[in-house]
Amino acid sequence: MLKLAIQKSGRLHDDSMRLLKECGIDISNGVNKLKAEATNFPLELYFLRDDDIPQYVEDNVADIGFVGENVVFEKAKKNTIVEKLGFGKCRLSIAVARNEEYTGTAFLQGKKIATSYPVLVKSFLDKNGVEAEIHEISGSVEIAPGIGLADAICDLVSSGSTLFMNGLKEVETILQSQAVLIRNNELQPEKMKLLERLLFRIQSVKKARNNKYILLNAPNEKLEEIIGLLPGMKSPTVLPLAEPGWSSVHSVLNENQFWDIIEQLKAAGAQGILVVPIEKMIV
Ligand code: ATP
Ligand code: ZN
Repeated sequence: MLKLAIQKSGRLHDDSMRLLKECGIDISNGVNKLKAEATNFPLELYFLRDDDIPQYVEDNVADIGFVGENVVFEKAKKNTIVEKLGFGKCRLSIAVARNEEYTGTAFLQGKKIATSYPVLVKSFLDKNGVEAEIHEISGSVEIAPGIGLADAICDLVSSGSTLFMNGLKEVETILQSQAVLIRNNELQPEKMKLLERLLFRIQSVKKARNNKYILLNAPNEKLEEIIGLLPGMKSPTVLPLAEPGWSSVHSVLNENQFWDIIEQLKAAGAQGILVVPIEKMIV
């Protein structure tokens, strides 16, 4: 059985469980709060604090884990990053009091920086040739400047509202992060095979999330132009409509090009455009 460590509770828990569900993996709701088993895939789940996941994966207690890149890089354990998971997006940023005049990294010279990420902060400072005092604290980093504990902080940010509420402003981003799948560096071949099966499902779910199924009606004289606008997996499906002179066109569109192409399709005479989510995409 493949042993997967995920966060017990917190920002990554629900998205981790959702991803497994979207991969068609059902988890039994056992009474055990530390472990659970999948009913239809050889997978065992371990619920842990996110900070501990890289160590457990290095020690082979778990074979693989879902955890933020921020934690993976800070802990620097013997793990391999296998796949980005597309959730838990945030950045690790340095912030200072809003009324400070920040002129660049030289501002940090000789200052005190509070953070839960001493390793990543140190390497950022070294890269920029700055010497500062790193004050490691485990939580509520954002209050440190207000109580006189530090001149600056380095913490995870998503919207920036926490910084704002604490009178801080973001001045440097040192890492863009999201949840990733990590694995032990030396997985046995049978475990590797299971991981590949899981990975195939995860990749199908990710692809489906980034793509939409599109159906539209096109006047036959515009068909060629409209088909030319659609990338599709192979070529689009074209079916005659009951109304003479019209066809129904089906295809798949990538989220990134989505609005551009929709506008061009409308301009080319497409009507009754329907866009539907795709559940899985196997290519
Ligand atoms: P644990 O009890 O497991 O140690 P925690 O309090 O350290 O939990 P959470 O706040 O739940 O951790 O965050 C878990 C992960 O979620 C972070 O390490 C990061 O990868 C990601 N994350 C995404 N957005 C944010 C954000 N705005 N603030 C903090 N973490 C975020
Ligand atoms: Zn944590």
